[in-house]
Amino acid sequence: MPYVVVDQPSREALLESAAARADAVAARRPDLLPAIDLQRRLLALVIDLAHTVESGRRPRLSLPPKYLVAKLARGVPALAGEPIPLPVQILQATLLRLCDELAAGGAGEAAAHIKAAIEGGTLDAGSLLTASLARDQHAIRTGAAHRGLAPDLVWLAAELAVGPVAHTLQRMLLANTPAAPLADALAAWPHGYCPACGSWPALAEVVDGHRVLRCSFCAAGWELATYACVYCGESGEPFVTAAPDEERKDRRVEICGGCGAYFKTVDVPALSPFPLLTIADLDTMDLDVAAIEHHYARPPMKEFGARH
Ligand SMILES: [Zn+2]
Ligand SMILES: [Zn+2]
Repeated sequence: MPYVVVDQPSREALLESAAARADAVAARRPDLLPAIDLQRRLLALVIDLAHTVESGRRPRLSLPPKYLVAKLARGVPALAGEPIPLPVQILQATLLRLCDELAAGGAGEAAAHIKAAIEGGTLDAGSLLTASLARDQHAIRTGAAHRGLAPDLVWLAAELAVGPVAHTLQRMLLANTPAAPLADALAAWPHGYCPACGSWPALAEVVDGHRVLRCSFCAAGWELATYACVYCGESGEPFVTAAPDEERKDRRVEICGGCGAYFKTVDVPALSPFPLLTIADLDTMDLDVAAIEHHYARPPMKEFGARH
């Protein structure tokens, strides 16, 4: 199952599931309580927005399967370089509310400044969201820095606001197109980056021994034919999988001496639907800490140029 179609529950089921998972993380990690509470509020906004996008505000984008097949064969993700019309007004409303939650949840003035820049027109929401969907880390970081805004926070807020569109497009283009050549092209996808949007996976969810790489932006799931570093393909001695906590062999980090990067893998009963991967990511923060303490890092976003 190289490209995996993940079941997408209803809005109500998602909200329930988000709450249950947040409770579980809070019980295990009471020290993360403020971060978990913020996550709950952000997720509620994202789930609502996803519902709006799904029920009528889907962006129009139709790419012929033949074109997609050729693109994937060149190692270019499906959405890369495509001009995608966004429902900017709707997304912007959520973006501003996300800034409020981030401000209240610890980011304070830094988040309030972003909101003010959007409302005042010095930061154009349409361009920001377009750059985020295109995964253009460079443009967002430079744009933020020029305006005296916190680049990581701008990146996060935009990513949360446009994520529902990325998820919808991922499913429209890849999951709902059963045509054989496209399925074959996806099955043959040998790369560690997301075949839909090009992001590096946030982690792997291992279900019944299948190591499914999960994109936390568009929620795509895909499995590689090789057991190797997701970033550089190293499969020899420099590539090591370890469980930092002896008692929890179900939670592991893959570290690569070849490229110096790390990757988290967790055994789970079922794959997380959009947008709950952010909770899975938060829930495995101790793995990030362990890897970073050993001087491993996550690589920057891959760039795919302009149009292909
Ligand atoms: Zn993706
Ligand atoms: Zn590597």
